[in-house]
Amino acid sequence: MGTVEHATLSCHHCGEETDHELAYAGRLLVVTTCTRCGNSIERDVRRRYVTDLRQRMTSKPGRMLRRFRRHPVGFASSLPRTTVLKPWELLEEVRLVWGAAADTRKGEKRERDQH
Ligand SMILES: [Zn+2]
Repeated sequence: MGTVEHATLSCHHCGEETDHELAYAGRLLVVTTCTRCGNSIERDVRRRYVTDLRQRMTSKPGRMLRRFRRHPVGFASSLPRTTVLKPWELLEEVRLVWGAAADTRKGEKRERDQH
């Protein structure tokens, strides 16, 4: 699941500062999970992720990006080995980002571009 880091953050559920697991896709924070109660906050970072990805890709960015927007998961799994980004890593990131975005839609209001 992308890159995971730990940080001490305050949890609304626990009502105090606890150890949190931060799941990143590239440089973007996607999911924050309290390791004590399991309460997680997911962010819809799809737009920023695509922008970020553009900077990480070196060859034919426009064309690759159009394919990517249409079928993110299929695109990631079809990437050639020569790509700078490792396909399986990208696939994990895509699943993380799109999975979190799907969950945020279910919930209350959409969180906008927040860090
Ligand atoms: Zn908690």
